Amino acid sequence: MGAWSCLFFSGMEGSKGFLHQLYAASGNFWQNLWDSVYKLFGRNNFAVGVIDTTGKPGFLMRYKVQMDKNVPVDRKKLKKAVKLVLFNGFVVSFPMTLLGIYTMKLRGCAFSGDLPTFTRVMVELIMFSLVEEFGFYYSHRLMHHPIVYKYIHKIHHEWTAPIGIICIYAHPLEHCLVNMMPVILGPIIMGSHLSTTWMWYFITLVSTTISHCGYHFPFLPSQEAYDFHHQMFINCFGVLGILDRLHGTDYIFRASKAYKRDKISLSLTPMSQQYPD
Ligand SMILES: [Zn+2]
Ligand SMILES: [Zn+2]
Repeated sequence: MGAWSCLFFSGMEGSKGFLHQLYAASGNFWQNLWDSVYKLFGRNNFAVGVIDTTGKPGFLMRYKVQMDKNVPVDRKKLKKAVKLVLFNGFVVSFPMTLLGIYTMKLRGCAFSGDLPTFTRVMVELIMFSLVEEFGFYYSHRLMHHPIVYKYIHKIHHEWTAPIGIICIYAHPLEHCLVNMMPVILGPIIMGSHLSTTWMWYFITLVSTTISHCGYHFPFLPSQEAYDFHHQMFINCFGVLGILDRLHGTDYIFRASKAYKRDKISLSLTPMSQQYPD
């Protein structure tokens, strides 16, 4: 019996056989890889990206937040964005995700097959959101400091009307400190289970894509505040709006039509028609 088959059969005797462990390891690998791909394109980007580049199907265009922008999207500008997005996805997001998971392991977080209780998952997701709000708001505001802005954050703001893929179109340093760190820190601080962490990563990927997609679709969370940030620069720095309210960095937004539109639409009528300019 060769060394590999020996390892295989001896592994089979344990509660977790070699194949089982191999599957678990490759499962993590595929999850990480998928995570990077998802960070690059996101569920909405697959669909919305097609709408932006082709202008079809036409009936969805009425849900655009900035009607006259990116119709169709500038191919040259998009190509430039895709290059940086791919770089950030593979060179920044992927290793940072692995580093985050490794740090959790060092901290003693549970990677077991026993899932945490529903209540614990809910409490932790709320805590992650607060950590993200805190981390994202202050690091993002720092990025708007005149000294830092022109060297780093100006890249992300080249798109005054964002599309989904722009969520990680940023200077790599910004992507690391502003986009990734506030997301990764929550589960490390809370000592969370790996399953809750994956759930959180998934939620943030979907929400950041929605916040940049440039469309306010019915029944989906509103992205009016973050779209407003891309239009106006000096308002709406946070994710939840709590710190913007606290620091008064939402005063222009609150006086705007976008503020009235900033809710989940329960009607098929576009928000721009429900609350016209
Ligand atoms: Zn943005
Ligand atoms: Zn900004």
